[in-house]
This record gives sequence, structure tokens and C-alpha cells, in this order.
Amino acid sequence: MPTPTATVPVPGAPTWHAVDPTDALRRLDVDPAVGLSAAEVARRAQRHGPNALPETAPPSSWRRLLRQFVSPLIAILGVAALLAIALGHAADAAVIGLVVVVNALIGAWQEGRADRSMASLRQLASLRVRVWRDGAEASIPARELVPGDILLLAAGDAVGADARMIEAALLQAAEAALTGESVPVAKHTGAEPEACGLADRHGMVHSGTHVTAGRGRAVVVAIGAETEVGQIADLTTRAIDPRTPLELRLDRFGRGLVIAALVLFALVLALGLLRGLPLDEVLMVAISQMVSMVPEGLPVAITIALAVGMQRMAAQGAIVRRLAAVETLGSTTVICTDKTGTLTRNEMTVTRLWLADGRDWQVGGSGYVPSGELSGAALPAAGDAALADLLRAALLCNDADLLAPDDGERSAWTALGDPTESALVVLAHKLGARAGLRADTLRQDWPRVAELPFDADTQLMATRHAGPGAPARVYLKGAPERLLRLCAGIEPAERLAVARTTADEMARGALRVLALGVVDLDAAQAAQPLSFDLLAGHVRLLGLAGQIDPPRDEVRAAVAECRAAGIRPVMVTGDHKLTGLAIARQLGMAGPEDRAIDGVELERLGEAELRAALPHVAVFARVQPAQKLRIVEAFQARGDVVAMTGDGVNDAPALARADVGVAMGRSGTEVAKGAARIVLVDDNFATLVGAVEQGRLTWGNLRKVLLYLFATSLDEVIVLMAALLAGLPLPLQAVQILWVNIVTEATLTVNLVMDPPDGDEMRRPPTRSDAALIDREMLGRLLLMALTSSVVTLAWFGWRLAQDVPLDTVRTEVFTLTVLAQWFNVLNCRSATQSVLRVSLLSNRWLMGGLLISVVLQASVLFWPPLAGLFHAVPLPASTLLAILGAASSVLVVEELRKLVARRRAASMPLPKASPGQ
Ligand code: ADP
Ligand code: MG
Repeated sequence: MPTPTATVPVPGAPTWHAVDPTDALRRLDVDPAVGLSAAEVARRAQRHGPNALPETAPPSSWRRLLRQFVSPLIAILGVAALLAIALGHAADAAVIGLVVVVNALIGAWQEGRADRSMASLRQLASLRVRVWRDGAEASIPARELVPGDILLLAAGDAVGADARMIEAALLQAAEAALTGESVPVAKHTGAEPEACGLADRHGMVHSGTHVTAGRGRAVVVAIGAETEVGQIADLTTRAIDPRTPLELRLDRFGRGLVIAALVLFALVLALGLLRGLPLDEVLMVAISQMVSMVPEGLPVAITIALAVGMQRMAAQGAIVRRLAAVETLGSTTVICTDKTGTLTRNEMTVTRLWLADGRDWQVGGSGYVPSGELSGAALPAAGDAALADLLRAALLCNDADLLAPDDGERSAWTALGDPTESALVVLAHKLGARAGLRADTLRQDWPRVAELPFDADTQLMATRHAGPGAPARVYLKGAPERLLRLCAGIEPAERLAVARTTADEMARGALRVLALGVVDLDAAQAAQPLSFDLLAGHVRLLGLAGQIDPPRDEVRAAVAECRAAGIRPVMVTGDHKLTGLAIARQLGMAGPEDRAIDGVELERLGEAELRAALPHVAVFARVQPAQKLRIVEAFQARGDVVAMTGDGVNDAPALARADVGVAMGRSGTEVAKGAARIVLVDDNFATLVGAVEQGRLTWGNLRKVLLYLFATSLDEVIVLMAALLAGLPLPLQAVQILWVNIVTEATLTVNLVMDPPDGDEMRRPPTRSDAALIDREMLGRLLLMALTSSVVTLAWFGWRLAQDVPLDTVRTEVFTLTVLAQWFNVLNCRSATQSVLRVSLLSNRWLMGGLLISVVLQASVLFWPPLAGLFHAVPLPASTLLAILGAASSVLVVEELRKLVARRRAASMPLPKASPGQ
């Protein structure tokens, strides 16, 4: 693959990969120990602008308005207007003009609304980076980076700009997006020859790539369009969300409607001419009917529905990065969720301690307050050496810190770092004095000289220290199975067996168990770099610490909600099987017959076996990130729509593969967020379930739009065709048809998508995203509404004609009746089961506003003489208006009756249980 060539060198601008770090820092005028000051950042931001690619500016209001006139619909109307003029109906032509303008105004305004909400949402999903500014670490949106900023990089971080490495500790970056190089590239601080290609610049990190391993610092040299990726990016395609599957389907659907409208046009024309009606009148009516059938409001309705869905999700703490997630979430059938922090609070406390010599205690106290006593048999005497050694491991092989309350903002004990580790720091402070250990100075007395950081694959951590009387000591901690394996050969088998049973017993009690160990390296070992292979067979077991991590309060209810909604929650955890299962039981995620399988068992299962086992698995335990991908695929192979949570770099493939990848906002890495479609701000399972409900609501609201569009179009079509076939005059004037379209469709349709939840969104089984847009239930409602209103309208029409009422008056009445019936219909469409009386109009102010506008518009056409003249309307007496209102309300009454029956039937039926994987 050709390497994108370096930029045309700007005179005076250095080729940064070829200069030394110190030189780069000098040229960028920044002290790496301090970073830029706030004032300097502001100055540079002023000079260089935001770290973003130039956006294609949103269209101006004028543009948007003009754009409304570029559509086939308008072309047809234009033809109609010309025809009207040619046929000598100047007034009709004027009306068509008016209709076009009103339509365009409404359309432009609604598109503006859609554009604005999309723009504000794009901001939410922005990338974050860590920088060193004013002598402290700060997390900022990548957009705010300026040249000279010191970037802090660690595994999982995204690189927000092009930067020169100034410090690198085994740092590797994945640059496939930029160079096509598929394996991560090692980075260092050395300078390279000027002519060096992009892929070989090991002293640089680039925007659009991410760090896969190690740590480092780099100074930002180029931002925005100046970055390498900025120069190859195609500005026109960037940042535009691809159209979602639902949008595409609705589009196709809309096109189908257009074709139907064309067919209808031909039919009306043919029938009218057969009947011997005057050509000009038939032609104008056929055109108007066709125009009113085109669902011009649909695309905007979809955009606004998705945008509103996103906004509501964001308000609840679920940030949508891909629009398609809004709809896919709604059809989710399985949620694979992390345990720690998502289902649980991630507030760990060690409650049980087992020493390798067999002593076993309970530990008192709660939270991070370092006070609490041991209880149990054979309590340790002062200065107990075995306890002291375990506490040293707990505190030294640990990166967390405990902060005492102070007079300022901190009113309680708090911990910095991984809660699993914080709990061990707290433990060491609780018991340190008893064991004759000074917890506060221990880390100074035993400086760390090397480390093997914790990672989800090894599930172990080791640190090497030089301490008093122990020049090369390694402390370890990690998952018991893993650590005990390293003890084989040095510890007696019986002791390891006891340790194993004890660990299992703790796990069964929902405790998260860590084993602790120690090695004193001999001279030969000490000369070698630290590795778990080196330690294997030399580790002495110190003991086990069991931690509770209470479930989040809101999760139980969220789990129950999932179940009622036909969604299966499945735990996928790195923790032990028994711990996972115990917590799953507490939360109602696992019933008595459900089981847990762990990573090792998973490895042994073939594809078919795994698929067969899935219905009964509630917990996947000791899962390595790579196995998450397999779990996702197995569920998908069974036809499930899978949401999967994750936070680490290695979770990215599974997140990308899942139908809805969900990253953790707090604990998640930028890479995980980049691969995910949704980010949970609070890492909370309940938030995810709320987002699912929101997804269902969005989908439900769009279906209301479809139902309404259809019911109204069908009503008009039936009335027109029936009149033509029955030998009656045309029931409406062409301009009246056009006007009905405005006051019933343009002003109302879009606002249906603003409806609040029904409350029963989560009491239905999931709808597949590829299910029919109009299902049986909807079809039934559609026919019921359209038939009721058209029969009533036709009856009215025939009855009034029979009474020899003048045609213009009858038409005005039919005109009013049609409009009123459709206003009632919009109320009908708001819920499939709830009575209109229970769905307050106030709960959707948009719809209320739309209705008000419609009423005012319609009233002015009826009662304001100049307009009335244009629309061939005659004034109607109040008594007639009341009668029409009564007739129109029949559509409401009929649908209310249907809802009543539906509610009765639902009440006598068991809860839905049909969904794949249940
Ligand atoms: P999860 O987040 O699903 O609970 P993790 O991958 O964080 O799982 O942890 C898996 C196991 O690794 C834990 O059960 C524990 O035994 C061990 N472990 C977790 N954190 C650490 C750590 N900081 N150091 C050593 N071992 C750890
Ligand atoms: Mg974890």
C-alpha cells in the first residue's frame, strides 16, 4: 500500500520526526515538566484554531428554503400551476403557488430543526485526550489540543493530534488507519532521517491512531487539517453518519408510495375521462391527489425521530456515536454486560482474609475508611510476620492511593485508582499497626524497580522491590487460579488445594478473590528482566483476600425490566465463575437452572455445542477479551441482536462486531469508545436498559408516523375513487386536496415523533429491525381508520347531494370533514392501546402546537373571505360545523372501541415470552 507522502514542507517548519525531542520542545516553546499554561493555551488556540478538520458549514436558512423547491413534488406542482394558467384558472394557480410556499417554509423550518439537533449531538461524541498542562494532568476534548501541548499516552488512549515522542516506555501504536500497517508499531524518542516515510517514523505518533501498549509522552506538533490524516481526509465524506438501515428501508418504502401515487394518478385520470368529466378538472384533481399521497414529511420525520432519540438517550447518560444504534438498540434481544462497575458499584471492601498458614478471618469496616477489626479464631499477635508480609504485597503490588479527608473539598476518605487495589490499600491501613508495619511509609522503604502491570489476559500483576533485607523481592497478586499455578512446585499440594477450596468458597459468597504471593529472586534471576515465566515455580503463597462489591441498587429493577421486555441479560466477566454466578443470582439474572461457564470451558466447546448451551448460560466467567468476540458471534448465529459492553483496548473487536457495542464512559479507554456505538457516561447497566427503552420508543414513534400517513392517504383515495365509480361529482376541488395535505400532514406528521413513552415499551417482546414496517396489528388499525373516515365522508357527501345542497357547499363540508377526521386520526395514532383521554396532549407540545397552527390555517381558509374565495369555500353555519365535528369524531370512537378490546385481550394474556434465545 502506498504510503501517503509527507506534506509539502512549509518553509521554516521543521520535519518533526527528524529533530531531537529537546529541539522540538524548544521550538514549540514548552517545558515538558509543566506543560502549557492556561493563558498560553488560549493564545495558541486563538492563533491555530480548533483541532478539527474544517467542517462543511451547515446550510444557511436561505439555502435550506431554496432546497425545498428542488424536488420532484415541486416540479409536479409547477406543472399543475402552468396547466391551471393555461386552462384559465389563474386563481387555482395562485393557490398552488401558496401551497408550495407554505410547504417549503414548513419543510425548511423542520429541516433546520433536524440539522441543529444533529450538530449539537456530534459535539457530545467527541474524542477525549489526556494532557499535561500547568503542571497537572487534565482530560480534555481532542478538539482543544494546541501545538506544544504535552500529550499523555497509555494503552487504550487515542492520539488526538500529530505529536513528537519525548518519552516512551514500551509504547506501541496501532496505525492501520493511517499507514495500513496491521501490527502495532513500537515508538521511541530517537530522530529519523528527513526522508523517512510515514510508516517508519517511530519518533512520531499521529492523529487518528491509538496506543495499544506501554506509556509515553509526546509534544503536539500539528493539529486539525495540518495533521497527516487531516491532509488525506476526504472532507466531504467525513463526519456524515451513514444512513441507518431503518432510514434506508423507510426511504424505499417512501419510494414505493411515490409509485403508488403515480399509479393512482393514472387511475383517477382514466376513470374521470371515462366518466366524461371535463379534462381540466380531472387532471387537476389527479395531480393534487398524487401530490398529497407523496410522504414528503417522512425523511425529516426519520431524522428528527433519531435525533430526538439520541438527545433523550444523552440526557439519560447514554451517548450515541452512531445513529444506527438508536434503532438497533430497540431490537436488542441479548445484552452481554460486564460485571464490575456496570452491575456492581465498583466499591470494593475486603471482608475476608485467609492466610497461607490456614488462619481465616473476617474483616470489619466499610467503604474506604481505614478502620475495622479482624474477627475469627486465632487472631494475630502484635507484629505477626505472616500478616505483615501479606499486607506488604497488598500495598506494594498496587497503584492505588488512599486520601484522608481534609478541610477543603474532601469530606470523606477517598481512593484514587482501581477500586480492587484501593480496597487492598485500605486493608493494609486497617491492619498495618497490628502487624507492625507502617503503611504510610512502606512505599518509600520499598521502592519499586520493575513491574508487570495487571492485564485482563494474564489476570496477574507483579512488582519488584528493593527493600530492607530483601534486595530483589517480587510481590504478586491476581486471580487465584493464575497465581496458584505459579506456586506449584514450591508450595505443598495440600496447601494449594486448601487455597483453592477457600477461594471457591469465597467466590460462592459473591466475593471477588485475589491471591497474593512473593518471590525472593536469586542473583541469576535478578539479572533477568521480570516475567511471569521467570517467576513460575518460585512463588510462595501469602494468602487470599475476598472483597465484596455490592450490586448497584437500580440494577435489579433494570434486570427485571429487561426480562419483561423479552431481553436476556448475560454477564460476561473476568471474575471467577462462582463470584459471577452468586452476583447474577442476587440480581435476578440467573435462575436456579441457569449456569455459568468459564473461559477454559468455553475454549473446549465447539461452535455447535456453544450455540446449544447458550440458552442456559447466565454467566461467562474468567473470559479473556478475545473470547468476547466469540460469544457475540455465537449469539448472533442464533438470530439474536446483541448489545455488548466493554472498556479495554482488547474489547474493541467484540464491540465492533456486536450489533450495539457499548463502551464505558468512566472506566473505558478511548479505543473502546471509538469502536462502540454507544458510550455510557456512568458505566451503569440501568442506563443501558433506559437507552433500549428509548430506542423502542423512537421506533414506535416512527411507526405512528407511518400509520398516520397511510391512514390519511388511504382515506382520501377511497373517497375519491368511490365517488368516481359511483358516478358522483368530484368530492373535493383540486386546491382543497392540496390544502388538506398541508393542514393534516405537513404540520402534524413530524411532531408525532416527539411523543413521550407509552409506558409499555418494555412490556413487549423486541421487534426485529428487519420486521415488516407495517405489521398485522398496524394494518388492521390502518384499515379501520381509513374505512371509517371514508365511509362517513362518502355517506355525508351522498346525503347532502341528495338533499340538493349546492355543490360548493357540500364540497366545503367534505373539505372540513376530511380535515377534522384526520386531526382525530393523529390523536388515534399516538397509542396502540391507550385511550386518547389518557395520553395527554400536553405531553407533546410540538403536536399541540402543530394542531393549533392547523386549526388557525383551516379556520382562515373557511372564514376569511379572500382565502375562502381562493379555495372555493363557502361559510358554514355553526350547526353544520357541529354536525361535521360529530361525524368526523366517529373515527376516534371506532378506534377507541378497538383499543378497549385490545386492552381487555392483553390483560387476559400472559406476558410475552417469544424471542430468540429465550
Ligand atoms: P471484571 O472487571 O469483569 O470483574 P477483571 O478483568 O477486572 O474482571 O478482573 C479479573 C480478575 O483479575 C479478578 O477476578 C481478579 O482476581 C484479578 N484482578 C483484577 N484486578 C486486578 C489487579 N489490579 N491486580 C491483580 N489482579 C487483579
Ligand atoms: Mg475490571
